[in-house]
Amino acid sequence: GRGKRPLFSSKNRKKTNQKAIDPAKFVNKAVTAFEETPFVAMHTFTDFGFDARLQANITKHGYESPTPIQDGAIPFVLAGRDLIGLANTGTGKTAAFLLPLLQRLLAGQVKRCLIVVPTRELAVQIEDEFRLFAAGLPLRSALVVGGASIAKQQQALQRRPQFVMATPGRLRDLTENYGLGLADFDAVVLDEADRMLDMGFIRDIRTILDKLS
Ligand code: AMP
Repeated sequence: GRGKRPLFSSKNRKKTNQKAIDPAKFVNKAVTAFEETPFVAMHTFTDFGFDARLQANITKHGYESPTPIQDGAIPFVLAGRDLIGLANTGTGKTAAFLLPLLQRLLAGQVKRCLIVVPTRELAVQIEDEFRLFAAGLPLRSALVVGGASIAKQQQALQRRPQFVMATPGRLRDLTENYGLGLADFDAVVLDEADRMLDMGFIRDIRTILDKLS
């Protein structure tokens, strides 16, 4: 917050007849609270039957109960179904796809997982969360994003990471100009797909999806 500092110091204030700011104009009226039914998850994390090492990381990370998107999505992803999930940011979307895909990988049901995102920042965030959940597990990840060394990303991809977090432009560049094959990716996530469409990535995404198995 701004604390008690005035919005304009007297030094900078114009010497015109500008009126002082009335803070009341910028403060919203209190909204009457309404009864909100608390969310009751259908599942506990232990219901999902995750690998013990994965479950230990979930517990260690302080997740006690699934959020609504996790509660709804995890069983479908575990069953290998296709899914469209709608949830606001900050509601646990990342774990909603990472946890069941990590599980499927550990169970040998998925070989490699491609996560396509609109921005480098989001890719980094997802990889950070991946690292927490994959701690101590024999799983690697790599970032394929614009604005970073393409040679280093190629090197990282040569280690055949099971999880790749990618932005569409760089991913397409690597597949078309540097011989990156995507055929062994058998799971794909389009995170913030609406935003990727807004950003004009539709053709890149189509080209990428065509290359997956
Ligand atoms: P996300 O929407 O994926 O960006 O997640 C928002 C925040 O909620 C992150 O800090 C997560 O670590 C946290 N989070 C996600 N799922 C849970 C959960 N089941 N219990 C507690 N925190 C969670």
